[in-house]
Formats: sequence, structure tokens, C-alpha cells
Amino acid sequence: MKSYDVCIIGAGVVGCAIARELAQRRRNDQFHVLVLEWHEQPGMETSGRNSGVLHSGIHEKPFSLKERFAREGSELAVSYALQHGIPLLRAGMTIAISREDIRRGLWREVSTLRRLLFNAWKTKTRVRFMTPSVLRAWEPNLHACCGIAIPGVSVIDPQAFVQSLKADSEATGAEFAFNSRVIAVDQDKDSYVVCTDRQRIRASCLINAAGLHADDIATLALPNKKYTISPLRGEYYEVISPEKRHLVGRLVYPALPRQATGKGIHFSPRPNGQLFVGPNEVAIQDKADYTSRKTPPSLFVEALKKFLPVLEERDLRWAYAGIRPCVMTGDGRKSDFIVSVDREDPPLINLVGIESPGLSAALALARHVGELPCIQKHFVR
Ligand SMILES: Cc1cc2nc3c(=O)[nH]c(=O)nc-3n(C[C@H](O)[C@H](O)[C@H](O)COP(=O)(O)OP(=O)(O)OC[C@H]3O[C@@H](n4cnc5c(N)ncnc54)[C@H](O)[C@@H]3O)c2cc1C
Repeated sequence: MKSYDVCIIGAGVVGCAIARELAQRRRNDQFHVLVLEWHEQPGMETSGRNSGVLHSGIHEKPFSLKERFAREGSELAVSYALQHGIPLLRAGMTIAISREDIRRGLWREVSTLRRLLFNAWKTKTRVRFMTPSVLRAWEPNLHACCGIAIPGVSVIDPQAFVQSLKADSEATGAEFAFNSRVIAVDQDKDSYVVCTDRQRIRASCLINAAGLHADDIATLALPNKKYTISPLRGEYYEVISPEKRHLVGRLVYPALPRQATGKGIHFSPRPNGQLFVGPNEVAIQDKADYTSRKTPPSLFVEALKKFLPVLEERDLRWAYAGIRPCVMTGDGRKSDFIVSVDREDPPLINLVGIESPGLSAALALARHVGELPCIQKHFVR
């Protein structure tokens, strides 16, 4: 049986970023990192099925893990993308209030903008209040009366990002085993024996970055079930009408009230010029249910017509869905990211509930994991 210093379960953006971080931090060639992945490539689950937005964090509670890691991780990701030639759309984000919202009573949306501005002030994020004339210059086709702009927000190609992190990790010595589904984890005195449907390996440290299945992996490694992931599907349609898909060039989000659990259906342009609308939030039972009972396009048109009245159902074509690995709190809200050292010796680190903005956060999450004392101990051996 082969032995490794660290075994990471999951080659999504988080697992690949951690593999890269640890491989780069190692002090000698005797430090071995292995990533086990169920699919034949990295990023086949949530990491390849999102909006690609490198969030500023201002939608999150200031100084929560989601906010801090999104803010720090997005900065790292932009520099990484520029260095590695990964497609990046430096478009900026607008969180807007439509003219129709105003007619229906402004106070709720305005208080949302006030809260987001306050979050931005607390976290020193550069934002700008948008008056109607500034908005017209920024996004001329948008029917909005005011909003805030976050000019620093970019959109990355998530697949290219994950592939590049994987290639980087391999170049610095990490190994990847694809088509390897982890089915059992046993603990010895000072290591773990990890069994997949193809091999058994030994590892001195186990990092669970299994996304939607992180709760099941944690259950394999712990005596009791500690985490439960509630899958929330987010669906996208593409704007395919040639005369309409260039009408919005930046990320345009609605100003949703505090009680909303997501950031809202938005206009989601991509670095390759495509424009999508989505994602919504649909609670599902099966973590692999990407397509049953698809939400009809009319609901997406309804959500965004207030910003772009010319948008019609026939302009949209079903594109794809992703599934958020959410952990819900007692009051029905989504929990913060969970990065938990559930055993010190041998170390077991569970990353659970890494839903949005997990793509933005990946490089900062990886840095945080690399700095954990139980991991540092391994580097100095
Ligand atoms: C609709 C939607 C939109 C989003 N938009 C954004 C956005 O714009 N910006 C942003 O920052 N974030 C966004 N996110 C969140 C972001 O995509 C995730 O937080 C991030 O991709 C999570 O990465 P991960 O590596 O933790 O998980 P994953 O990508 O799910 O990776 C986990 C990997 O573990 C593997 N695995 C699972 N079980 C096993 C097993 N037993 N054995 C071996 N391998 C296993 C899986 O195959 C998978 O490849 C969005 C998410 C969704 C669903």
C-alpha cells in the first residue's frame, strides 16, 4: 500500500487549490500529496457549474469566513488568472434597483443597498453609489434607477481555473488519482487507510474537500454523523438571441432583502462573450439531480424583465445547473463555511458547506488550511 503525507478527497476548485498550496509549501521532495477524485477530471461537479463570479464578499456577513475568504481569495484569483492566462472578464458588478421596484415601494430595496454599502465600508471594499445618470452611462440598456457598483468584481472561467490549479499542483509534485471513489476510511494509530473502488492508500493527514459529499466522507472518518448537506440546485438559461445577448455587459444583480437566502437571479456574462441568466434556488433530495423538473424560462424572464423589458422567453435556451452544498442552520439560513479540524492526531480536516462564494474563496481557503498548526507540524518533520 502506498503512503502519503496528505490525502485530499475531491478535485474540485478547493481540493486542487489545497493540493497546490501544500505542494508549494513543502520543504523537500519527501513530502507526498495525493488527491482522490471520483470523476475522470477535476471540476466536474459544483466547481464547473457556477457563475464564475469572483465575489467581493459584501453580500456576506462582514468578517465571516465567507466574507473574508471571498475578499482575499478573489484578489488572489485575479492575480493568478492574469499570471496564468486564464480567461477573465473584468466587468464589475452592479446591484440595482429597477424602476418597477420603485413604483412598488422603494424602502425594502433601499435598505438592502444601505446594508451592502455598510458591509463594504466595514470591509474596506471599493464601491460606488450609482445615480440614474451614472447607471445609464455604465449599462445603457438597463432599466434601473439607482444601485451600487463594485468595479473590482471579475468573472473567471471556472473550468480553466480548476485545470490550471491541478496542473500547477502536479508540476510541484502532487499526485492525482481520478476515477477513484472513496468508499471507506479507517483510522490507525497515526494514519488513515483510505479505500476507493480501485485502491487503498495510507495517509498521515486527511483533508475532506468532497463538496456535495463532504458530509458522507466526514461520516466515514468520524464515529458519528456530524454534518448534513442540503443540496440546493441553481439553474441557468443562456440568452441566445443575437440582438439581445449584448444588451448587458456587466454582472447585474437585484437588491434582495436580508431574508433572501441567495444573491438572486442575475445577468451573468462570461469571459467568452456568452450571457446567461440565473441561478435560482431549488431544494432537491438527490445530490445528482441536475435536470428533473426544470424551472421554466418564464420564471427567469419574470425575475429580470424589470431590468431589461425586451427580454422574452424565446430569447432563452436551457443551459445547465449546479448544486450548492449548503449546510442549513436552525433558523433556516445557510451556515458559514465550515473548516473544522475534527481530529488533531492524525489530522482530519473537514471542509463542509463550501457553497457560494466558494469558487472566489478557494485560494484563501487553501492558504488557511496550509497555515493550520496540524498541517504545519507535518512540514517541519
Ligand atoms: C449555481 C451555483 C452558482 C455558483 N456561483 C458561484 C460564483 O459565482 N462564485 C463563487 O465564488 N462561487 C459560486 N458557487 C459556489 C462554488 O461553485 C462552490 O463553492 C465551489 O465550486 C465548491 O468547490 P469544492 O471543490 O468544495 O466542491 P466540488 O467542486 O463539488 O468538488 C468536490 C469534488 O469531490 C469529489 N468527490 C465527492 N465525493 C467523493 C468521493 N467519495 N470520492 C472521491 N471524490 C469525491 C467530487 O466528484 C468533486 O469533484 C456557485 C455554486 C452553484 C451551485
